Amino acid sequence: MSQGPSAPGTLEATRILTKSLDCVHCGLCLPVCPTYRETGREMSSPRGRVYLARGVAEGSIAFDDVVADEMGLCLGCRACETACPSGVQFGALLDEMRAEVERRGLRGGLAKRIETLALRGIVPHPARLRALVSLLGLAQRLGLDRPLLRLAPAALRERAALLPRVPSKADRAPLPALVPAVGDKRGRVGFFVGCIMPELFGDVSHATVRVLARNGFDVVVAPGQGCCGALHAHAGDSERANELARRNVTAFDAAGVDMVVVDSAGCGAALRDAGRWLPGTGERLAATVRDVSELLDAAGLRSPPGRIDARVCYDDPCHLVHGQGVYEAPRRLLEQIVGVRLVSHEDPTACCGAAGIYNLTHPAMSSAVLGHKMRALAAVDPDVIASGNPGCIMQLRAGVARFGLRAQVVHPVELLDRAYGGPSRAPDAPYL
Ligand code: SF4
Ligand code: SF4
Repeated sequence: MSQGPSAPGTLEATRILTKSLDCVHCGLCLPVCPTYRETGREMSSPRGRVYLARGVAEGSIAFDDVVADEMGLCLGCRACETACPSGVQFGALLDEMRAEVERRGLRGGLAKRIETLALRGIVPHPARLRALVSLLGLAQRLGLDRPLLRLAPAALRERAALLPRVPSKADRAPLPALVPAVGDKRGRVGFFVGCIMPELFGDVSHATVRVLARNGFDVVVAPGQGCCGALHAHAGDSERANELARRNVTAFDAAGVDMVVVDSAGCGAALRDAGRWLPGTGERLAATVRDVSELLDAAGLRSPPGRIDARVCYDDPCHLVHGQGVYEAPRRLLEQIVGVRLVSHEDPTACCGAAGIYNLTHPAMSSAVLGHKMRALAAVDPDVIASGNPGCIMQLRAGVARFGLRAQVVHPVELLDRAYGGPSRAPDAPYL
């Protein structure tokens, strides 16, 4: 039997065992699990993975490549948590198991190399990320991206197809340190910027800040904040996730804000988990975190004056609906835009297959999971698909192109911003 840091009786094994004990083997999580739906294998289901975790913690199952592969194949979508009547915290258990896979050196190959390059070499370094995205934007503007990609290996070509168009220079411009509330002030909030959002979805970040200010919130962009560490935690790099959580706690502690508002579901779920890394200070930060849709819905949206005539299908990001329990808020907000008709497809809370960088590390399973989503969306043929997470937006856009849908894929806050009139286009206008 493989021995190592989590041999039975160690602290790591005890943590894994504790998190697996609540499972009563009822199987209610199986029908919602994308990898079980795809494979039909018990071992690739939530119940199967909990069984494996408990077995390795008790020492009755060898911690080998089979266990490591099953933990890697899981999308971490946490649909099983929503379905579970017994309160199994599957996301936390998965992170523990993946950290153990890393400690034992059980992962290698292309997936691991992509992860290491992206998560250690690029994502936490804003200057490198910015330079890389600028190069991509230049290649796109010169029309060189596609010819260059044709020279790349097939596996890389498929993965690169997921990259969005780089936003304009204005949309990638840094956010002001403070955007004052418009009209009666309802609070002072910190805006969580993140790492990928300002580079590939800077237009969404600017829209979020404008919408918050128009709803009466002073918006503070706290200096010193950085990546949320979600991708690191899910890849088993608990040390780096801990370091990043510490940095964000310090930045928002110093900002003196009532709430920390997030417009990326994956980042929001990770910040809400900060207490796992930093008991006390992390829990304090976690308690203030709100998704932008949740805050606006709770505060009461100020009616946007514009109208958008469109059939809009809202698709739930897993880390918002399953990770943070936010389901109604974004739908209620969209319904308040005059002209919007909300339509629903048959499986809005199922994973789209993006799952952080899963679509890069497990392209075949990701593509199969996306296929189910796109067929459900095609059946309702919306004008617009709205989803509040950058990874989901990229994946759904790739799906729209692949399946020939006509829908535009946007963040819900972009629709709200449009209904408020968007940015002022006057050259000397103030921020709003
Ligand atoms: S997190 Fe998602 S993919 Fe993983 S076991 Fe749960 S439902 Fe299945
Ligand atoms: S729903 Fe919960 S208790 Fe039931 S098998 Fe799945 S993880 Fe175990």
